[in-house]
Amino acid sequence: MLKKVIQQKKIKMQIKNTFPPNWNEIKKVFPKAEEQQAVFTFGETLHNPFKAEITRDLEIHEAVHSKQQGKDPQEWWDRYCKEPEFRVEEETIAYGTQLYYLKNTKVKDRYLPSRVIEWYIDKIAQTLSGKLYGECITYNKAKTRLRHFIREVDK
Ligand SMILES: [Zn+2]
Repeated sequence: MLKKVIQQKKIKMQIKNTFPPNWNEIKKVFPKAEEQQAVFTFGETLHNPFKAEITRDLEIHEAVHSKQQGKDPQEWWDRYCKEPEFRVEEETIAYGTQLYYLKNTKVKDRYLPSRVIEWYIDKIAQTLSGKLYGECITYNKAKTRLRHFIREVDK
């Protein structure tokens, strides 16, 4: 499933400046969502109520969640809200795919230098271990998992 997502160059999410249908549940579990300008994928729609900038790598991250949700986005969201370990696993795949995209996509005919990729890994590990996701993993573990993910995909 993962490789399909990565190879899918035609990923195009439907982006709307609306709240997701389960916003009431989400905001109880993730009170920092508004402050952090979070976006929310529900099925095939990327909800962007706080009008964040949707970069291509973020769109790919959200497309992974769309695939993870399959036919039952509500069920996925219920687990995502209730089970921190499930949340970490799903986010590791989404952020890992995002990083993989950044690492393997040319910007002005060049790949991003490894120090820039390192900067992204650091930033993402901070976010994933931070308040937005309910501090569900430590910074160091998040970093290790992200690196592991990128290595595994490259095999
Ligand atoms: Zn995510």
